[in-house]
Amino acid sequence: MISGAVLPDDRIRVALVKGVPSVTIDGEGLLALRDNGNPLPLSPPVTVRYVRDGITVDGIVSSRLTFSASSAVYVNGKPYRGLAEVQAGEKGLLVINDLALEDYLVGLINCEISSAWPIEAVKAQAVIARTYAINRRDARRTASYHLESSVIDQVYDGCAIEDSRARRGVSETAGEVLTHGGAVIQAFYHSNCGGRTEASEHVWGMALPYLKGVDCQYCLNSPSTHWEQKLTLREIEDKLKAAGHRVSGITDIRGGARNSRGRLKHVVMVMPRSELALTGDQFRKAVGYGVIKSTNFSVRAANGDVMFSGTGNGHGVGLCQWGAKQRALEGFSYAEILSYYYPGTVLFRPAGEQR
Ligand SMILES: [Zn+2]
Repeated sequence: MISGAVLPDDRIRVALVKGVPSVTIDGEGLLALRDNGNPLPLSPPVTVRYVRDGITVDGIVSSRLTFSASSAVYVNGKPYRGLAEVQAGEKGLLVINDLALEDYLVGLINCEISSAWPIEAVKAQAVIARTYAINRRDARRTASYHLESSVIDQVYDGCAIEDSRARRGVSETAGEVLTHGGAVIQAFYHSNCGGRTEASEHVWGMALPYLKGVDCQYCLNSPSTHWEQKLTLREIEDKLKAAGHRVSGITDIRGGARNSRGRLKHVVMVMPRSELALTGDQFRKAVGYGVIKSTNFSVRAANGDVMFSGTGNGHGVGLCQWGAKQRALEGFSYAEILSYYYPGTVLFRPAGEQR
């Protein structure tokens, strides 16, 4: 038995909204249960507000409400399968979607890739998203939720963009996860590696035997391979300050040494009397993962403007989605694609058949 193996009725808890003062919940036949099991009288749509002692609906204070509906529950206008739980979080409301793992995966496919991609690439995405989710669920078993719905974990935007090909990719790989040494792996993945996938220790300082990095090349002709970004020194300084970095009066930005995979180990902020070197990931995190798309870039500052010119999209660790797409077009199966990007892993199949 694999630790953390998937069962057909497995559920997953995904944080949808955090730290907001209010949220709107709607749905056909909407019901809300309080923690004591009693229903709260409602007339949908419902606005839930954050207050000091918990949450309120029409002046009634609760610690937590669990919403269900006859079809989807709408959170701020977006439909979700399963339940929506609203509770007081640290600085506002926390809304958690509690739903069947396999339904979560169907919704996720079109957030992460396109279900119009070759079906073997869709199936590879389904397996790694399932693997990633199970691994996180085990790691955060005692937390109030397992996954963020953003690029921090996996992008998830509800069930509005589900379709039959996404469902096929999930059902044809039902329950399958990638394992190493009998445990479900940390199946990191990203959009486009730019030619070589990255070793996990270069990004997070954590070496994993199946995340050493491989040559890719398959993604190089995809539209997302090259990117450019123009920012000002001032914008970058503001973002670094907001992220808690001690910078003041940045006059230049330089790329530091590159690692064996071609990505920048450090990005150096030059100031009048000092320099600050951040790791590539720290720099991306502070300035924005969507703004600085990878740590494989060159940078040039002139007259207060900073020009970035880069390759690849994402942290580069694990499966390269655009590379997987091209491999699928060239006839590789999803199992072959997975074993290429996660060398040494075993695809665990619930029926017991393994390869
Ligand atoms: Zn690639």
